[in-house]
Amino acid sequence: LPKVALVGRPNVGKSRLFNRICGGRDAIVHDKPGVTRDVMARDVDGRFTLLDTGGIGLPEKDAPSKIVQAVEEQVFVAVESSDLILLVVDGREGVVPLDEEIAARLRKNARCPVHIVANKCDNERVSDSVHEFNRLGFGEAIPVSAEHRVGIGQLFKTIHSNIPEIRFVTEEAQEDRRIKITFVGKPNVGKSSITNRLLSSQRLIVSDVPGTTRDSIALDLNYPFPENRMGKFRLVDTAGLRPNSKVDSSVEYFSNLRTRRAIEESDVVFLLLDAMTGVTRQDKALAGEVLEAGRSLVLVVNKWDLAMEAFKKGGIEGFKNAKDFQRNYREAAEKELFFLPKSPFLFISAKTGFEVSSILGTGERIDHLQRMTLPTGRLNRTVHDLIDARPPKRMHGKPFKVFYVVQTGYRPFRFRLYCNRPEKFEDTYRRYLEAGIIESFDLEGSPIRFDLVGKE
Ligand code: GDP
Repeated sequence: LPKVALVGRPNVGKSRLFNRICGGRDAIVHDKPGVTRDVMARDVDGRFTLLDTGGIGLPEKDAPSKIVQAVEEQVFVAVESSDLILLVVDGREGVVPLDEEIAARLRKNARCPVHIVANKCDNERVSDSVHEFNRLGFGEAIPVSAEHRVGIGQLFKTIHSNIPEIRFVTEEAQEDRRIKITFVGKPNVGKSSITNRLLSSQRLIVSDVPGTTRDSIALDLNYPFPENRMGKFRLVDTAGLRPNSKVDSSVEYFSNLRTRRAIEESDVVFLLLDAMTGVTRQDKALAGEVLEAGRSLVLVVNKWDLAMEAFKKGGIEGFKNAKDFQRNYREAAEKELFFLPKSPFLFISAKTGFEVSSILGTGERIDHLQRMTLPTGRLNRTVHDLIDARPPKRMHGKPFKVFYVVQTGYRPFRFRLYCNRPEKFEDTYRRYLEAGIIESFDLEGSPIRFDLVGKE
């Protein structure tokens, strides 16, 4: 189960809150190797394990130096073992230096989301004053009263909304998962031809997916990669690709709707471009739609045989050779599709079969990439370096500052930025950070979402 840790200085009411979240059941003592003190742990609703690190190193008397040390150990355990950290503070007392100390350590070391829970908010006046905890750098505090059962529902909501996202690594470990792919592109760019090429490949094992309607036929493809590895794919929405359903796809509204649905259902979308016409407005709109849906995008330039043929017969004006033409094509396309998340380009020919086999391998690679969990330390360094290299514009004198970054999801990548001024995050700057992260981690083709948490 994912682990949720309560962290906080003594006397803020962690134990009370622990019992409240557990619904009054007794906590069990949890052995953690390498840690000498006890951590209280309790499974809650089969959804998460709640940890109370508050007992760690707690001194008998309030010796200040001992308390700091106790807090250090707490933070260490929480950081090492949790998927979500709840920093518990005293809503009545406001921010005290020790809270700041803990927050600073968490900002530096936490590799998971951190939320502030302001306990002892027994009345509205206290609840209204919790804004002051914003300055700890973890967004709005959740006001609760463990004693009077106030705000516990909201707290659960926060916990649950942070947990399913966190579990992304193991959740996807199912053996049988198929990589869902779709070909999109303007009419006559070669979608049916590529599909037929793939289907006529002798190595491919094809089966119709049972239960799909006649309108949106999916096909399961098993493709043997080298090393006896079986690639498992599902080709989403082949209805529009079949000659006998061409009539349907000419009805633009219907076909747009279906394309959108197919994109949403896919893991990786292949946008087909025509080697001889370059990027059109329709291509641009489709690429935008794929990325907006949060899907990974691969560019496939079809009809490459025509370019090669032209060079055999004396060339294409303005280009030295096919390689030069290819480089130019790519550069021009990337300029036109400036918002691409470093999508790979494949130059293929459905007609001759040239490079068609690279499609599935690329699909698999891109799907794998988009499911990665990025190491938080490096992620934070990357983002800070990017911001140092090109600080955002100052607005009203105060610079935009990111305290720390954590990945909260994938497919598309989701990063939560704890910052001082979320509203100052402009679109061009978002794109700059996106491109920088993609470059640094080699995340080809995957769009990125940022979620900004901070004080207004
Ligand atoms: P769709 O509308 O995107 O499904 O496009 P089709 O697959 O029906 O192809 C449209 C036309 O382009 C057909 O006449 C195909 O024969 C032709 N075509 C498709 N792929 C290629 C290719 O790689 N090279 C050449 N020269 N023609 C192609």
